[in-house]
Order: sequence, then C-alpha cells, then structure tokens
Amino acid sequence: MPGIHLLEQSTIDKIAAGEVVERPSSVVKELVENAIDAGATAVTVEIKDGGISFIRITDNGCGISKEEIPMAFLRHSTSKIKTVEDLLHVTSLGFRGEALSSIAAVSQVELITKPADALTGSRYLIEGSKEVKLEEIGAPNGTTFLVRNLFYNTPARQKFLKSAQTEASYISDFMERLALSRPDISFQFISNNQPKLNTAGNGNLKDVIYRIYGRDIAMNLLEVHTECEFMKVDGFIGKPVISRGNRNFESYFINQRYIKSSLVAKGIEDAYKLHLMQHQYPFTVLHLTMDGTLLDVNVHPSKMELRFSDGKGVYEFLYESLKEALEHKEFIPEVSVED
Ligand code: ADP
Ligand code: MG
Repeated sequence: MPGIHLLEQSTIDKIAAGEVVERPSSVVKELVENAIDAGATAVTVEIKDGGISFIRITDNGCGISKEEIPMAFLRHSTSKIKTVEDLLHVTSLGFRGEALSSIAAVSQVELITKPADALTGSRYLIEGSKEVKLEEIGAPNGTTFLVRNLFYNTPARQKFLKSAQTEASYISDFMERLALSRPDISFQFISNNQPKLNTAGNGNLKDVIYRIYGRDIAMNLLEVHTECEFMKVDGFIGKPVISRGNRNFESYFINQRYIKSSLVAKGIEDAYKLHLMQHQYPFTVLHLTMDGTLLDVNVHPSKMELRFSDGKGVYEFLYESLKEALEHKEFIPEVSVED
C-alpha cells in the first residue's frame, strides 16, 4: 500500500463540492439562497444551455466588501453563524459556508459586488478554486455571480448531467418553488434569452400561484390559516377537482425554506384521502411556521431534509387543519350548462 498523505486542498475542495453541487440547479439554489439571505428584494436568474455553460444571478442585496471577498470563497466561511448553538435559531437559508467554495472548485466564477456604503464595487475572478483577479470596478449596489462551464475540470461529474433541456427544467421547477416560498421577493427567470417567470414581489401568494400555474388552478383554491401552540399553517390547497397525477404539485415550506418531508407529505395526503381517487395527488402551497428550536435543518448539505422534534404533533395538526378546510367547502359538482 502506498504511504498515507494529506490530499491537496484543491482535491479536498472538489470532493466536498460533489456534495453541494450536483448539477446546475444546485448552483442556482445556493446562489439564490445567498441572495435571499443578503436581504434582496429582487433576484434575476439567467441561464444558457440548462445552466451548464452559463448561470448569472443578480440581486439587490447587501453586497460583499472587497476585503471579505476572498474569505467568502473559503470552505466553512460564513457570516451567518458563529457557534453550534446559533444553529438552533438560524433563520438564514445558508449557514454551512460551503457553497461558494464548492461552486468555485468546479467552475469559472466571476463576481461583481458592491455594498451600498462602499464607494466602488469589486470584480473577482476565481477558477477551479484558483484566484485569478480581484479589482475595483464601478457597479450597482448588490451582487452578480456569473458561473461558467460547470464541471469543466471534473469530467466524471459532467457525464452525469442530463440534456440541457432537462437541466433547465430542474432549474425552472426550483425557481417556481423559490417564488412560492417568498412572495415578498420579485423573481425573474430567463432561459436562453426567453423570459420564463416573473413575479411581482408584492407579498401576495395567490398572485404567485396564478403566475406559475395559471387561472384554472388559481380559481380552485381553498385558503388555509390555522395555528396551534407550536405551529402555524398558511397558504392554499386545491379543491379535489384540480388534483394531479403526481406529487410535483405538493409544495410546502417550513419557515420559508423549500423542503421535502415524507411526514408533511403524509399529513397532506391523508387529509385528502376521502376526497381523491387512488394515484391522485393534491395541489398545495403551504407555509408552515414554527420555532426553529423544534427543527433540525442540518441533516444534509442541501438542507432539503429536516427533522422535527415532534413529528407526530406536526403531522396531526397539519392533517386536522387540511381536513377541516376540505370539509368546510361545499362539494358542488361543476356542471357545464349548454344552450
Ligand atoms: P453560507 O451561505 O452558508 O454562509 P456561502 O458559501 O454560500 O455560505 O457564502 C459565504 C458568505 O458569502 C455568506 O455567508 C455571505 O456573507 C457572503 N455572500 C454570498 N453570497 C452573497 C450575496 N449574494 N450577497 C451578499 N453576501 C453574499
Ligand atoms: Mg449559502
């Protein structure tokens, strides 16, 4: 066996990047989440070739000062937490300090940023974890990230990418969930120069649903607002007439974070059980709000999974809330009248 040695930092970064950056949609997720954490009220995402060759994300958030830019690209560098205890109260979407270093390890990144109180902006180039340039430049307040040629230096990863069209559809799907997660932020999504999504950022969730899913869905929603000692449920659920053949239309957010939870899905689906046929799934856009101490979001680097300290309680309250909402609606079958 050859001697034991420490891996080079760039190799460590590439391996670690694999956990955070699986495909172009992961880059979009991480960078838009950063924009949201930076307090942006408007975020524009432009992609080309499904994001494989080009992703540009522009926000009007707090920006990064020139002195702090190289630090932001180091692994485990973050402005969002200091200690493990802070994890209990974390309200930001990010906190692991892994995204920028991971993205920069496997692509060519250009950053242009300016905090509102800085006199000039900065431009930073980093490729495959290697800093290329840091200079002063005129720039608007906020931050633009340009990510080119994802996985150019990790061919094994590149092979796992799907067609540009499929990768674009993952990003599009994710942008829709983000827009639903934050009706108070205006999102724009442009793919191959075609505008795909544009939300007003006026705080109206139903508006966002209308923009994404159209009139037929928006006309057939029941509003939900319930609350118990430990959680709140707000949002819209579809009347059974707009049920769907798959789970893609079950969106739910916990403390404004888009997640997947089999427990939440079960609560939703069980509430609909009497109203839907087999293999039919409800349409939902639900915001669950609860104290951060009742959750652990630090389960996986993507933070898509989480643990509840009282899973049973969450399930039961959600189930009861939706069941009530469904039972209070009148099930008048839609009759089309013809002359
Ligand atoms: P994390 O989000 O977990 O803190 P990241 O690697 O995603 O880690 O980002 C590192 C740091 O860079 C953030 O903590 C933040 O201070 C800064 N940053 C990243 N993106 C932006 C942005 N769009 N606007 C302002 N600051 C940003
Ligand atoms: Mg982040």
